[in-house]
Amino acid sequence: MIIVFLGPPGSGKGTQARQLSEKLKLPHIGTGNILRREVQAASTLGLKVKDVMNSGNLVPDADILELMTNRINESDCKSGFILDGFPRTTKQAKSLDEILEKSNRQIKRVFNIKVSDAILIERLSGRRTCKQCGTNYHIINAPAKKNKDQCDKCGSELYQRADDKVATIKQRLKVYEEQTASLIYFYKQQDKLIDIRGESSIDRVFKEIEGNVSRQ
Ligand code: AMP
Repeated sequence: MIIVFLGPPGSGKGTQARQLSEKLKLPHIGTGNILRREVQAASTLGLKVKDVMNSGNLVPDADILELMTNRINESDCKSGFILDGFPRTTKQAKSLDEILEKSNRQIKRVFNIKVSDAILIERLSGRRTCKQCGTNYHIINAPAKKNKDQCDKCGSELYQRADDKVATIKQRLKVYEEQTASLIYFYKQQDKLIDIRGESSIDRVFKEIEGNVSRQ
């Protein structure tokens, strides 16, 4: 089963995608996480995309498509996977359909998580992320329990992503509106889109998603 999560930065799509991947035992493929690991490792790709990411803009389609074609064709993706952060442009979405067609596969569902801009800004500016495993916390709504600066899961240091500063957040929301929102129409036309109200608790949002998956 192939599932795509859409939603603006801060909508909680990463958290929901991760939970669904654990439940369905399918790989969670978060493009932002993969790219941040490349930046941390100072790889050729990481060095190339670092500034674009920090400015809140999108990495060029060609780089993303190369990365994702390789990832999706790995053996752990045979029974399906959960996409979080990809596709982000209509060009990426069309290319993804073409890649999947080659192995006779198709996307089953696209969850579109909706959250107002005011809540997104509040969530993102207070977000802290684990350097090692990528788990997210929030300084007020969901602080780390053992030590506010350390991940509860792996003990690594928490940090504020460079693109979680207010000026960059506004740019990311603008980019989402301009480039990614058209995907909603693209998947609606394919009759794959399900809108999810993303402002309630993580558990309630997850129940709504789970309910939709089990109705397949
Ligand atoms: P995210 O963690 O999903 O918010 O992604 C963080 C940043 O990674 C984005 O602001 C982009 O710069 C880059 N990025 C992630 N996924 C993509 C994608 N599918 N296409 C282009 N850029 C991406």
